[in-house]
Amino acid sequence: MQKYLDIYFDTNKKLRALQYAMSTIHWDSNTEAPRGCFAQRGKNSAVISELVYKLSTDKVYIDAIKNIYEQREKLDPVMRHEIEKQKCEVDKTSRIPMEEYIKFTELLENARQMYFDAKAKSDYNLFKPYLEQIITYNKNYTVWQQTDKLSGYDVLLDEYEKGFTQKDFDNFFNVLREKLVPFVKKVTSKKLKFNDSWINAYFPADKQKEFSQYLEGVMCFDLNRGLMKESEHPFTLSVDSTNVRFTTHFYENMVASAIFSTIHELGHATYEQQVDPALNDTMSGGGVSMGMHESQSRFYENIVGRSYEFWQRHYPKLVETFPNELKGVTLDDFYKGINLAECSLIRTEADELTYALHIMIRYEIEKRMISGEIGVEELPKEWNKLYKEYLGVDVPNDKMGILQDVHWAGGTIGYFPTYALGSAYASQIYHKMSQDIDTKKEMGSENLKQINLWLKDKIHKYGSTMDPKDILKSATGEAFNPNYYVDYLINKYGKIYDIK
Ligand SMILES: [Zn+2]
Repeated sequence: MQKYLDIYFDTNKKLRALQYAMSTIHWDSNTEAPRGCFAQRGKNSAVISELVYKLSTDKVYIDAIKNIYEQREKLDPVMRHEIEKQKCEVDKTSRIPMEEYIKFTELLENARQMYFDAKAKSDYNLFKPYLEQIITYNKNYTVWQQTDKLSGYDVLLDEYEKGFTQKDFDNFFNVLREKLVPFVKKVTSKKLKFNDSWINAYFPADKQKEFSQYLEGVMCFDLNRGLMKESEHPFTLSVDSTNVRFTTHFYENMVASAIFSTIHELGHATYEQQVDPALNDTMSGGGVSMGMHESQSRFYENIVGRSYEFWQRHYPKLVETFPNELKGVTLDDFYKGINLAECSLIRTEADELTYALHIMIRYEIEKRMISGEIGVEELPKEWNKLYKEYLGVDVPNDKMGILQDVHWAGGTIGYFPTYALGSAYASQIYHKMSQDIDTKKEMGSENLKQINLWLKDKIHKYGSTMDPKDILKSATGEAFNPNYYVDYLINKYGKIYDIK
């Protein structure tokens, strides 16, 4: 066993070093790299990618994983979980026919280009043949990866949130359909009265940046191990817990966008910074899943960042930063403005209340897409029908409808549901946290230290040493329960919109 462990650890050390280089290149490309370096950068990163591929598919390494797996009973729980995960990945890769994989990679390159073209022209027909092939590949993939526990769409869902099946998601979305859809109709039929003059007013970018830096302090982001920059689409990148970076953007006529992008990404970044440093030298560092990561960003962004308590404490600082821009705007005006609920067409611009309904539509479509119940021909019609049914809006064109998201063009089917799951996890976590600490009081504190500590102890420190389902259960004491989410939303928006 020791012989195999030596090979395993030694190869992982090299893989992590290469990953370190790739992550740094990726960060650089998305923030400050001069445009002129792209071609040279491409050549160099191709070399590193090839090294990664060779190392991770090396027969000696694969054999080591298989041998350790055979003797996994002798390992401690953390290492056993890691090796089970690695073995599962090795098996999955070996089940994909090489020529199919190469064809698919080529397809995606063309599909992405065609997608952007189709979106610009708002013409679904241009993208349709590519989408059809992407769906076919994904359907084949579900057959290759089928097990006695997983088949069909379940195979794809499991890729992004291990342990969550159609049955779980059906149950989740059924609760939303039953309780949230009628509530959203009530809320959005009312009009909130408040001073909204500031929402699209001019707020200089340099001052916005200053306030984002203030938010780093409020969230106790460790600048010795972290960094903030700007990019069009905000994102977080973590190499390990000593090197966590995020970006935000500053729109001068939409001050709230920067504030909530910053808090959202700081949520992802806090998760990464709080992983047990001992895991930096393993393959179990970093956040556990898409859903759990999104639960942390949305917890900070929505539950904390859009709470009255938070702004009661920090609104004076915002006014101090923008004394002229916010003249005559009260805390109440600001709170209502950041919690406006509207039935809209675009997912990425949706508010906290209606967001999950956008995801529900995509989930229903993906499910039927993979089962073969609907073909590419009928997708736009189905999309528009569901938007009318759940959000009451008419989709005017493909660009604002079926073509709005890049995910399918990137080949990913089964990813969307984790966005809604994240918000729901967050509410369940909030419920449990509030039994242990006075969460509302802490949200209104000078900083979020106590909240961070709770999350670190219950979730963050574990990195990916357990499955997401098990982390949620150990943190909250129960299995996933979507009712916390619906109750949270109905309680919050019921108060704001005065709905009994
Ligand atoms: Zn996010």
